[in-house]
Amino acid sequence: MLFSYTQIAHYLRCPRSYRHRYLDGWREKETRAAMVFGRCFEKALESYFCGGDCGATLYREWGAFHDTPFEYKKGETWDRLVHQGVHLLELFAQDNRVHIPQPQQNLQLKVVRELPNANQFVSYIDAIGELDGQHCLVDWKTTTSRYPEEPAWLLSLDPQLISYSWMTGISDVAFVVFVRKHQPEIQYLKTSISEEQRMEFGRVLQTTIAQIEAAQFPSHSGIRFPQNGCVSCAHLGLCLDDQKLIDSSLIRTARVNDLAWLDELVD
Ligand code: SF4
Repeated sequence: MLFSYTQIAHYLRCPRSYRHRYLDGWREKETRAAMVFGRCFEKALESYFCGGDCGATLYREWGAFHDTPFEYKKGETWDRLVHQGVHLLELFAQDNRVHIPQPQQNLQLKVVRELPNANQFVSYIDAIGELDGQHCLVDWKTTTSRYPEEPAWLLSLDPQLISYSWMTGISDVAFVVFVRKHQPEIQYLKTSISEEQRMEFGRVLQTTIAQIEAAQFPSHSGIRFPQNGCVSCAHLGLCLDDQKLIDSSLIRTARVNDLAWLDELVD
């Protein structure tokens, strides 16, 4: 089987949700504008590093969704998103803190690691390059609110960065966070992942895969703070046997495991 960070994170959050998603094929409908815009923005970044016109790329990519009936957050529109995106691209070019040598090879890198029992783990790394002159693995994020920066080293606990570090053996990792707010801002958040953290991730991964192979899918339900995962879970309709909710938020697909890599591109 092919595993990915998103799959493992899904299982750790709620094994029942993992079963709905990866074994039964229930996927969330792609109705959120912000998620699709984030993918278009990453294409524009790719164009920036390859010497293209990143603003034009953003207009072209996001333009393909101009008439798509997305759910927009309050105050958001197609135009507002594209203007925020262009502003952020200009800011990014002015800052000039990230450099990606040989962008054709160092952007959207597919990394595959062999696991026991003929399993594989796949990651798509956004970029490997330099941040402020330091060799670093970089993950882009687009969001509407700033990432927390305190206490110091908080980012070193981020499981996605730990998994990327485990995949590549690179200790220095960073999120470059494009914050779409009234005054757009970019956060350059660097941290370091230790060998011990990488080894621990490897152990958690093995344990989780063993539970999946043993068909252990108990529900980790929660509806009250701080464990209110069901409230925002796309599979809530399935657990409540609510057909209206299922129809409004989910679609069913086949050959689910073959699509593990797609999750990684989205995340
Ligand atoms: S609704 Fe709750 S119990 Fe059901 S899959 Fe989602 S998180 Fe798990």
